This record gives sequence, structure tokens and C-alpha cells, in this order.
Amino acid sequence: MALIEIDGAEKRYGDAVALDGVSLRVGAGECVALVGESGSGKTTLLRTINRLTALDRGRVVVRGEAVDEVDPVALRRSIGYVQQDGGLIPHWTCLANAALVPELLGHPDAERRGRRALDTAGLDPQVFAARYPRELSGGQRQRVAIARAIAADPDILLMDEPFGALDAITRHEAQEAFMALRSSARVTAVFVTHDLGEALRVATRVAVMRAGRIVIEAPAAEVAGKATGYAAELLARSGVSA
Ligand code: ADP
Ligand code: MG
Repeated sequence: MALIEIDGAEKRYGDAVALDGVSLRVGAGECVALVGESGSGKTTLLRTINRLTALDRGRVVVRGEAVDEVDPVALRRSIGYVQQDGGLIPHWTCLANAALVPELLGHPDAERRGRRALDTAGLDPQVFAARYPRELSGGQRQRVAIARAIAADPDILLMDEPFGALDAITRHEAQEAFMALRSSARVTAVFVTHDLGEALRVATRVAVMRAGRIVIEAPAAEVAGKATGYAAELLARSGVSA
């Protein structure tokens, strides 16, 4: 059984169709990338998994339970989530931000977990724990957001353009750190990117979205071979040769 199962997901906002019948399965240990241009429904789809988006139609099952039949707060705390804009609490220190979920879960060692997560995300806790988000670069803020998502050791990690704000070199480092984390912690990840090249480097499987649908879904190694039309265009734009 897949860890995450999405069946026939439909979501509209007024006249805008955000999800137009999406089905996706994510097995334990996989890292699935959702790729597609702005407005294609990636964020909406990601947020159905931790029930921040409620569907009009369809079903999402996580760890064998329908997400609309479990406590949404407990569900959200059990799933690491890096929001598209980072979503840090501005008047909290980096450490307080990083330790938020372990704190909410009542872990007695929340602070230690927060420090460890900062370290894993590539920020020296000695240097960064006491700083505030406004005292960081965009890339460092993004790392705090990643630290916050992993601090409680979730088995599922949802990341919405986690490396989007980083320059090329830092981005590469962050991708490497994420891949190392995945192999050591065996976390199952769904991450959003508009960069197909990044998806092919980091993910085990890629789902290309367009206008609220998944138009291609394939193991990362096979995407280039299957890419025709729109996906081939995305590939060309991301500098990956098909
Ligand atoms: P992506 O993450 O791929 O850029 P989104 O999932 O954010 O796409 O959005 C998909 C579509 O749904 C877009 O047309 C967007 O404008 C619309 N949409 C998303 N969230 C909302 C919202 N809260 N209210 C109204 N429209 C929304
Ligand atoms: Mg988005």
C-alpha cells in the first residue's frame, strides 16, 4: 500500500480549476517532484496531503487513513511542510521557529531537536539559533523553514519550491543536503519545483502538471525519454537534454 494515495482530486476556486481530477500514489521512501508552470495546481495538490486544501471531489489517504477522517491538527503536525514563502514566524528566533513542531508535540527535548534540525539544514546553531528571520539572507531563511519541517522527524515531508529562493551554488548545496537527509532518514517526500532539471536530479519520480492535471508521470530516469510537447519544452528550458 502506498503511504500517500490521491484519487480523482478536484478543486475549484470560483471559475478557476486548480485540480481537475488528479490521482497520485507515493510509496514509502519515494521522493516525488511535482513540476509545472505557475498556476498549474502544484501547491494546491501538495496541500491536499496535509489537508490545508479541502477537496471538492476525490479522496486523499495518508498512512492508510482518509485525511478528512482524522484530526487535521495531528495530521499537520505529523507531516513536515515547507511553505512556498517559507512561512517563518518573524518575531521568533530561528531556534524557536525550528523547534516549533517538537514543542507543539510536547517533546521534552524540543530545543535539542530544533538545534539538530538547524544543523542538518546547514545552519550552525551556535551562529543562527538566536537570530531572527529578518537578520538572515533569503537562502538562510529557506534553510530555517526546512529545519522546522524536519525537526520532529516526520516520515513525510512536503516541500513547496524549497530551493526556489537560492542562488545556483547554494541551491546545489541545498539539493545535496536534502538528498543526504532523504537517504539517512528514509523520509518520503513530495516536493514542488518549476525546474524540471532540479526534479530529475533530486526526485525518484516526476509528475508534470498542467492546468490542474498530471500530464506525465514517470521515474526520473525515464522522463526525458517520454517528454514530448509541453514536457520537452520544460526540459529544454531547464537546460536538461532530452
Ligand atoms: P501552482 O502552485 O502550480 O503555481 P496553485 O496550486 O497555487 O498553482 O494554483 C492553481 C490555480 O488555483 C491557480 O489558477 C490559482 O490562481 C488558483 N488558486 C490557488 N489558490 C487559490 C485561492 N486560495 N483562491 C483562489 N484561487 C486560488
Ligand atoms: Mg505554488
